[in-house]
Amino acid sequence: MTTSTQQLPRVAYFCMEFGLDNSFASYSGGLGILAGDHLKAAHDAKVPLVGIGIRWKQGYHDQALDEEGRPYDCYRARTYPFLIDTGITVTVPIRKASVVCKVWKVDCFGNVPLYLLDTDVPENGNRWITGQLYGWFGEERVAQELVLGVGGIKLLKALGFEPDVYHFNEGHAALAGLELIRQEMEKGRSFHDAWRATREKIVFTTHTPVPAGNETHPHELLAYMGGQLGLSVEQMHEIGGTPFNMTIAGLRLCRGANAVAQLHGETAREMWAGVDNRPEIVAITNGVHNPTWQAPEIVEALPRPERVWDAHQALKRRTIDLIAERSGVRFDTDTLLIGFSRRAATYKRSDLIFADESVIGPLLRDRKVQIVFSGKAHPLDEGGKAIIHSLTKMMKRYPESVVFLVNYDMEIGANLTRGCDIWLNNPRRPMEACGTSGMKAAMNGVLNLSILDGWWPEACKHGVNGWQISDESVLASTEEQDKRDAASLYKILVESVIPTYYGDKAAWQRMMVNSIESTQELFSADRMIREYYERLYTRG
Ligand SMILES: *Cc1c(COP(=O)(O)O)cnc(C)c1O
Repeated sequence: MTTSTQQLPRVAYFCMEFGLDNSFASYSGGLGILAGDHLKAAHDAKVPLVGIGIRWKQGYHDQALDEEGRPYDCYRARTYPFLIDTGITVTVPIRKASVVCKVWKVDCFGNVPLYLLDTDVPENGNRWITGQLYGWFGEERVAQELVLGVGGIKLLKALGFEPDVYHFNEGHAALAGLELIRQEMEKGRSFHDAWRATREKIVFTTHTPVPAGNETHPHELLAYMGGQLGLSVEQMHEIGGTPFNMTIAGLRLCRGANAVAQLHGETAREMWAGVDNRPEIVAITNGVHNPTWQAPEIVEALPRPERVWDAHQALKRRTIDLIAERSGVRFDTDTLLIGFSRRAATYKRSDLIFADESVIGPLLRDRKVQIVFSGKAHPLDEGGKAIIHSLTKMMKRYPESVVFLVNYDMEIGANLTRGCDIWLNNPRRPMEACGTSGMKAAMNGVLNLSILDGWWPEACKHGVNGWQISDESVLASTEEQDKRDAASLYKILVESVIPTYYGDKAAWQRMMVNSIESTQELFSADRMIREYYERLYTRG
């Protein structure tokens, strides 16, 4: 940081999920991991930031497979010995009841505490609002967003923490903006004056080009739940449109907004071009927290290719051990290992590599490649669950070369992004906002083989530090795009990846070093937090 800590704006960072540690099941995927890395980087940079979130009683679901290989979700209550009871409670009016929210603190980051709101207290008729992360829709989701937004603002007041900046990380927190407007109006300001004053303190990050990821609520539902916070339907419409769109609200409630990769910036600007009365959407590419995700032995081995290779092979053995423990299948250390683990959302096309079995089948049977998959589907995403089922069928067809690890989490994520040889990513461009697992892989020398989507266009030097699948064009028909991308994936796999891996070890090792050196600073959470301070938190 260029300025001293005293002068830096104090930031309250709101997010529905935080992925801090594997033992803390309060994240579902990329958004939460990013929020966790944001706090860790803020801690390392010694900046005045606090996190605001929810203490989820059951967290995100565990994943299990039935006999036919179909995934299903399991929930269990979780206890976390490291949560500190602050003794603070705040109340949030929901469905005409005063819902009591207990405030917990996670103190692992010293200067960067995380405060979590919890409705599981005896005073409440409904203790389950903070039960399951993304477990319900409709009423319960609005209730959760009231707890995060309104409860979050009240908790900051109770703490005596006066933020210079409220950062809404994704639309879930937008109701916090309405609460701030309500408080300004209570002081006698008009709606528009209150809105103008509030907006000066809010910044907003949008995270997804997938329409379903941009939540809307009917005005009637918000009114019934208490989500209008004293505003009229007309005023609500002015902020969030009709139905009330949490992303549009976020954009209109803030003075600065950003997308999470350069390409996502272009996509988001196009997507929200019709929304007036909002700031321009800039792009701040995500980063990952190096100490969490990058193996120290890889860093120590730099810049010598053979030493990086040796460190990598040791990490690969650990990955092979993990796969054996979890699945009973022992992969081979000298066979090319492809990793693909990410949320099972349809646009990510997890099963694209099986598009033509006449190509991939022989490679798997002859043990030229082995593939490890992992990933959970959103509880209500039947399409995502069907994809997982199709992967587990492939595991049965190629039992020695394809494995699906259930219950993708930070432990599996960290292990696979260190120990695979190739990190495969083949989303339907431009639907992947960022794709931070690819950054983790890249800075461990795991070579990315990826569609030019999310962060990858910013980093990819084809054949130098990884490979690109297809080019930057987007076809009118998704079927055609799927076909073209599968063909390109096979071509690069067969003509470049496999021959290099088995035929030119020196070239492969050089690519590993290039991969690490071209990403470890550029895509670090340190760089990211610096950019947030310079471009969004600090007034220009
Ligand atoms: C890094 C990480 C993610 C996000 O990665 P994507 O590339 O966006 O899928 C999700 N889940 C876990 C467990 C991770 O470690």
